[in-house]
Amino acid sequence: MTHIQKNITNFGELGLAPKLLSVLEANGFVHPTPIQQQAIPLALEGKDVVGIAQTGTGKTLAFGLPMIQSISRNKGQGLVLVPTRELAIQVEETLQKIGRAIGLQTVVLIGGAPMYMQTKALRHSPHIIIATPGRLMDHMEQKTVNLQNIKVVVLDEADRMYDIGFAPQVKQILRAVPTTRQSMLFSATMPTAIASIATHSMRNPVRVEVAPVGTTAKLIDQAIYMVGKELRLQLLDFLLEKEPGTVLVFSRTKHGAKKIASSIRNMNHTAMEIHSDRSLAQRRAALSGFKSGAHRVLVATDIAARGIDVTGISLVINFDLPNNCEDYVHRIGRTGRAGASGRAVSFATPDERGVLRDIERLIKKPLPILALPILPPKRAQSNSAHLMGHEPRVYNQANNRPRWGGGQRSGGNGQRTNKFSNPVHRSRSRY
Ligand code: ADP
Ligand code: MG
Repeated sequence: MTHIQKNITNFGELGLAPKLLSVLEANGFVHPTPIQQQAIPLALEGKDVVGIAQTGTGKTLAFGLPMIQSISRNKGQGLVLVPTRELAIQVEETLQKIGRAIGLQTVVLIGGAPMYMQTKALRHSPHIIIATPGRLMDHMEQKTVNLQNIKVVVLDEADRMYDIGFAPQVKQILRAVPTTRQSMLFSATMPTAIASIATHSMRNPVRVEVAPVGTTAKLIDQAIYMVGKELRLQLLDFLLEKEPGTVLVFSRTKHGAKKIASSIRNMNHTAMEIHSDRSLAQRRAALSGFKSGAHRVLVATDIAARGIDVTGISLVINFDLPNNCEDYVHRIGRTGRAGASGRAVSFATPDERGVLRDIERLIKKPLPILALPILPPKRAQSNSAHLMGHEPRVYNQANNRPRWGGGQRSGGNGQRTNKFSNPVHRSRSRY
């Protein structure tokens, strides 16, 4: 694989059709982002491409534009595989923004929505299918989808697609697609082990990497609070009072997300939650209400960490650290998108120092630790802090180092699961 460096600043220089250029202009897209500059010409040549670029830097159009152009010129169909329903819907919206003017037909195949509507749309041989692997497999099993005409396949958030749970389905799907296809993988992160599996089915792929894997967007200000679990809700309360803008809070589990959202509502902020226990309709309502500003805070599991593009999220709070370092990059990447600035703060317990070091190694920069502020008193209805069953830990705020009363582990839900140790095949998700 080769690294390509070019310096083009205009969409007109990338080999795109005049029709697409005028749609881009009408949508206010003038200058291609670095990943678009590099990936689009290669993709238009029909090359297999692995595209690595920071969150929020326009990867959707980096594969979307060449895919639309190639489908309209060479006929055939395109397939975009994504890890979540929300991302599928969003990718379709982006592709339609460009494709509508040239009559692009798309279908979204995701769980939680009726099969028959999707089947009906598939009968019209849409130009591009955007799918989550599980629902696409359902259609393959019921023979309601024919993949013989697929000419271009994209795996968006590719490393997640090969993550545990998806890998067997992705492999099966790729086996059902003609081998003569063009393949493209995009992500901001790509662990080496996954990259070697993922590129196995590709034909001499060109790797375009505008920033090293794991690099976070430049304009995100990141910091850590070392805080015992029993003080997290109070710290959250403090941060939400201080922060006037839109806030996205991440929780490692769906159970946690539910509890945090309810605590935030008790703090008199508008909040909704998004996780896999909610119906598709509830998930859509939570996300669109957050986008429209109807509720200022969204509490999410890692289901919302990948790909979701909401303009103007000013603060991301990791109420707990994610299960793997890559997810940290994706979580905080929900802010600081398309050249905007943003802030991300993460709560960590002192026994998570090792995890923090792993994250720092991935993002290749140190994460500053902030002194704990004077916290507001615990709200009466906040219902989880007292469950921790021990006294609040005391921090020496002068040098930001926690003083521990004997290294006991915080109890209960701090268990970290190894994502490679627990194979799940289409089982219920933790997220
Ligand atoms: P990524 O997949 O890299 O995280 P997205 O494709 O979701 O990023 O794009 C992030 C945001 O950047 C979107 O709101 C999109 O409209 C915007 N965007 C994409 N390309 C451009 C461009 N060339 N100029 C300006 N904004 C862009
Ligand atoms: Mg994306």
